[in-house]
Amino acid sequence: MRRKLVAGNWKMNGSRAMLVELDAIAAAASAAPGVDVSVAVPFTLIAAASERVPNLAIGAEDVHEADSGAHTGCVSAGMVKEVGASFTIVGHSERRADQHETSHDAWAKAAAARRQGLHVILCCGETEAERDADRAERVVQAQIEKSVPDNADGSWFTLAYEPRWAIGTGRTPTLDEIAAIHAIARAKLRMLIGDAAAGVRILYGGSVTGANAASILATPNVDGALVGGASLTAEKFVPIIEAAA
Ligand code: 13P
Repeated sequence: MRRKLVAGNWKMNGSRAMLVELDAIAAAASAAPGVDVSVAVPFTLIAAASERVPNLAIGAEDVHEADSGAHTGCVSAGMVKEVGASFTIVGHSERRADQHETSHDAWAKAAAARRQGLHVILCCGETEAERDADRAERVVQAQIEKSVPDNADGSWFTLAYEPRWAIGTGRTPTLDEIAAIHAIARAKLRMLIGDAAAGVRILYGGSVTGANAASILATPNVDGALVGGASLTAEKFVPIIEAAA
């Protein structure tokens, strides 16, 4: 039985003043004991966020693939863990686009996070051009094949399907399209990690709101949501937590 996970991703947004939003988010999480709730924040806010709301899982949005070393400007999994992160996102499409990260990079980052005992949310998803060319399923399968570690299981690993064209656009795939990709992702996981695939949560991300969360979360093989814009305020994020409960 997979518990639903509602995860926020603040991206390059937020400030100390905005941490006040986490108070009501943490309260909503406590009021929904059947749902896991977590929020990934910029590196600079991890320590303050995790001290402010110790009962809410706070995470990083990325980590470096090495444990330490000569990598100016980078941050390791051990560093984010030391200041209070319990998980990290890896392979987000914005990092694939902006920092030219590959599925192999996502694999290496997931492995680095695992070495430090962090939970991992690994992202995959096609571009609009790939979907238009009817290649969404193949793209997602290939990303999963190249990025999911051999030892992945649901105790530390979560997959997130985020079609790039749905991120921040207000557009979402149909429920049937979401179900189709999630089923294919589950089948691919089964090929790679066997029975452990049944315990791995697969989140949907891309323009999730309080209005569409209930129907998306009720879709087969959708085990939660990865939420960008609507995670920035409690007013928008709490209804998504409630929809998962
Ligand atoms: P939006 O919810 O703003 O579309 O962002 C989704 C996302 O990229 C979460 O990682």
